[in-house]
Amino acid sequence: MEVYGDYHTHCRNSDGRQTVEQILRAASHRGLKEVAVTDHGPLAAVIGVKNPEVYLGLKQEADEINAAGSEVKLLVGAEANIRDRQGTLDLPAYVINELDILIVGLHPYTLPTSVKEGFELYARNSLRHLGPGQRRKAIDANTKAMVEALNHNPQIDILSHPGLFFTVDVEEVARACIKNDVFFEINCGHEHPPVSDIMKAETTGVNFIINSDAHFEDTVGQLDYGIEIVSRIGIEPDRVINLGKGGGYVEWCKKKKACRYS
Ligand SMILES: [Zn+2]
Ligand SMILES: [Zn+2]
Repeated sequence: MEVYGDYHTHCRNSDGRQTVEQILRAASHRGLKEVAVTDHGPLAAVIGVKNPEVYLGLKQEADEINAAGSEVKLLVGAEANIRDRQGTLDLPAYVINELDILIVGLHPYTLPTSVKEGFELYARNSLRHLGPGQRRKAIDANTKAMVEALNHNPQIDILSHPGLFFTVDVEEVARACIKNDVFFEINCGHEHPPVSDIMKAETTGVNFIINSDAHFEDTVGQLDYGIEIVSRIGIEPDRVINLGKGGGYVEWCKKKKACRYS
């Protein structure tokens, strides 16, 4: 199956172990037409970018690389962190508005907006093994955080690895993706979600994207996990935005809001 692009990778600006040049070279070897570098938002401890301006610098660099006729188009995005149950993100609007792609997800060790939210969202998840009551509360909090983030941030394109680290109600999250025209990610780096959750999401009618979440050069464009599941359970390629010849960022972002990339 032909893959148009890989829209979730990390370089050394966050916790990736690869330069932008290495990502481009790897994408070219895989035969991709586009690749996005989407480093972690600044408020995830250790793995986040040093400051939000990093994205603006990389965007400038990407403009030059693309203008010079790069064989693989380079997109610049972020994987922002959800900080509370109201769906607050860890990136300011002036940065988000400059990005080609906005991914959001829940990650451990993210700075919450308050002590209370820190308990409700992060501490509660570490208590979930205590019993079904705590587990239910954790799932409700995680689901609410994702749904609110989707409902309040119209710039979001992709929900990363739904349910990884923080268990969610997959169908509810998928329905919020549909409502907000957001792609439900099948993340090959983490091999997540598992096939059972992808099947649940599929029944809602949500659209998917298969990404590598590559932190190393050799896994850029490595999408076998997702492609294998999608063909095994019979999801039509039309519902997977980066499969096939006619896709690509320009096509799918046109359907959403103003597309600044050309
Ligand atoms: Zn992630
Ligand atoms: Zn990632």
